Amino acid sequence: MPSDPPTPQLAAFTDALARRILASPGFADDTDDPAGLPDFAAFLAGEAWPTLPAALRTASYATRGAVPAPDTLSLDSTPTSVADSLTSCGLCADGDGALAFLRRVLDDYVSDVCAPPPVWARTRTTECEICARAVPLTYHHLVPRALHAKALKRGWHAAEMLGAVAWLCRPCHTTVHGVASNEELARTYFTVEALLGREDIQRWAKYAAKQRWGVRRG
Ligand SMILES: [Zn+2]
Ligand SMILES: [Zn+2]
Repeated sequence: MPSDPPTPQLAAFTDALARRILASPGFADDTDDPAGLPDFAAFLAGEAWPTLPAALRTASYATRGAVPAPDTLSLDSTPTSVADSLTSCGLCADGDGALAFLRRVLDDYVSDVCAPPPVWARTRTTECEICARAVPLTYHHLVPRALHAKALKRGWHAAEMLGAVAWLCRPCHTTVHGVASNEELARTYFTVEALLGREDIQRWAKYAAKQRWGVRRG
C-alpha cells in the first residue's frame, strides 16, 4: 500500500529511536549485524508517532517555544505494542522502563528538530563521509571549535589541523556528537577514519545508509 513520505519530524524521531537502540548494551551484545534495525525503528516510530501531541509532531526551530517538554507528557496513550517490543528486545525491563526510554528518545528528537537550521553548502553534491548518501551536508570540525584554544595550548594538534572538517549529513553529525564528547573528538577521533573505526559509528552508518527518505533533511 503506498503511503505518504514521512515528514522530516517523523524521520528525525525514527533516527532518534535508532540511535538510542544502538546505544543500548543489550541490543548491541546480541546483534552482530543489526540488519533489522531500520525496520524495527520504523515500526516503533509508526506505532508511537500518531499518539504523540501535535505540537511535538510538528516541532521545529520556528515552533521551539511551544514544544512541550517530554518529561511533562504522560505518554499514556502509547500503544502497548511499543512497550512489548522494547521489553522483548531487552531494551527495557517493563512498561515504565519503556516510557522512560521513549522520553529519552523524545528529548533527543526535540533537540534535533528544534536546532537552528544547519549551515551547509547547497552546491555541495558529494556524499556524507559516514553514511555515503548524497544528501545535504553540514560541516563538522574534526577538532571541535570550543576546544581549539585548549588543543593548541596542550599541543594536541598543530594550528593548521584545526581547520580540518568532515562533511556529514545532519543525522550522522548528530550521531557523532552523541557518541563522543568534544574532548574525545579533539584528542582521539579527529579524523574520519578514526570515527569510522568506532563500532557504534559503523552500526549507525549501516542504519543511516538505508534511510532513503532522509534525502531532504539538511
Ligand atoms: Zn550521513
Ligand atoms: Zn560537529
